[in-house]
Amino acid sequence: MILEVQGLTRYFGGVRALDGVDFRIGRGELAGIIGPNGSGKTTLFNVITGIYRPDRGVVSLEEGEITGLPPDEIARRGIARTFQNIRLFRELTVVDNVRIAHHPHVGYGAIAALLRTGAFYREERRTREQAEEFLSIFSLQDRGKALAKNLPYGDQRKLEIARALATRPKVLLLDEPAAGMNPSEVTTLMEFILRIRERFSLTVLLIEHQMRLVMGICERLIVMDFGQVIARGLPGEIRRNRQVIEAYLGKRDDTDGGGIRKKAR
Ligand code: ADP
Ligand code: MG
Repeated sequence: MILEVQGLTRYFGGVRALDGVDFRIGRGELAGIIGPNGSGKTTLFNVITGIYRPDRGVVSLEEGEITGLPPDEIARRGIARTFQNIRLFRELTVVDNVRIAHHPHVGYGAIAALLRTGAFYREERRTREQAEEFLSIFSLQDRGKALAKNLPYGDQRKLEIARALATRPKVLLLDEPAAGMNPSEVTTLMEFILRIRERFSLTVLLIEHQMRLVMGICERLIVMDFGQVIARGLPGEIRRNRQVIEAYLGKRDDTDGGGIRKKAR
């Protein structure tokens, strides 16, 4: 077990965004979270990563409790994430977007930075080289000097994942990584997620609506509705689960061939 949440509950005014959520994720696992819009999936990530404190419940990483710690401390302990809406430094270059993520690990102090000492320049060169090496893993090495905003959409998603991985996480949380992607970008993304899991020995938890991706790569699924876990199991089991079908999987969406129509709320 690497990540565990117990009884996680979070209200926003009268809305129960999370209502007693329990689950455990094993080390190295690739698990998916699905559920209708507004079922609390993003809130779950926000609580795990310290953006919001839960009203009740516990989040544990490798047996240590991390509930309510500040986001940078949770990141240091090994949880990185991406956002449902891409958050890049759009006006910075691709390589600088990755270098910024490296900085928690940089060794030089503020004085060295001010004085522009040799140590400062050595560190700067080292982080640049590391960032470039990183980009080559993502086949973005030729785009290093491009501004992030000028990358095609699929590459921006990849860059966001690259930046999350540059913090050397143990657990990677992806919030709708395939949102807005065309079918061929989704295929590339699926292979990519499998590849980085191997290469970085990651545990991956992803929220996703595209059933082709979820059913294609997730080993286990957690289904949420109204802030609660309504089902969990193997993708094949979830597909046949009556409660899930009623809550969510009602009809196939013809627009992307692999998606599902969200239940009208
Ligand atoms: P999902 O990601 O599954 O679509 P969310 O976690 O974004 O769902 O939202 C769950 C519920 O919590 C929704 O009703 C949403 O409006 C509400 N909610 C989420 N974040 C906030 C917030 N910061 N303030 C008020 N309500 C919120
Ligand atoms: Mg969401």
